[in-house]
Amino acid sequence: MTGPAGAATAVSAQDLAVLARQLGRPARGVAAIAARCVCGAPVVVQTRPRLPDGTPFPTTFYLTHPAATGAIGRLESQGLMAQMNARLAADADLAAAHAAAHRDYLARREALGVVPEIAGISAGGMPDRVKCLHVLAAHALAVGPGINPLGDETLEAVAPWWRLDVCHCQPDQEGTQDG
Ligand SMILES: [Zn+2]
Repeated sequence: MTGPAGAATAVSAQDLAVLARQLGRPARGVAAIAARCVCGAPVVVQTRPRLPDGTPFPTTFYLTHPAATGAIGRLESQGLMAQMNARLAADADLAAAHAAAHRDYLARREALGVVPEIAGISAGGMPDRVKCLHVLAAHALAVGPGINPLGDETLEAVAPWWRLDVCHCQPDQEGTQDG
């Protein structure tokens, strides 16, 4: 079953196998699948704030899908982050919404566990900059629209090449319906 945005679903052995193929290595510290393709394959993993080896891990929502990461990387190479940073400097409302997204990110991480080494540190350049569109998009995919405005914009911008409701999986990366 593909849950609505914001509904994290349990991780299965099949998910872990797909994640390992997506990432080219075993996924570590997976707490849940935060967003899935319509075929069921993982798209965003919710990662524990401390990995099994003890390493603090700030990127709670991690975009794993190769088609999504590739398409968003294209946006980064086209200069979208520089435009967003210029707008953050000029638009107080946008800056406030971006900072609120940072607080949402931290609150959701703390629900998984409190790790003092990364207290107050989110990811992707939040709260005041944009350094990684993958992080912002992963957060937006995990929590749904209206929480991370620049993540929402990233998903709109990438939609011609990748979108959550269209399967872009390679045959060996397809998930199984888990519900
Ligand atoms: Zn798919």
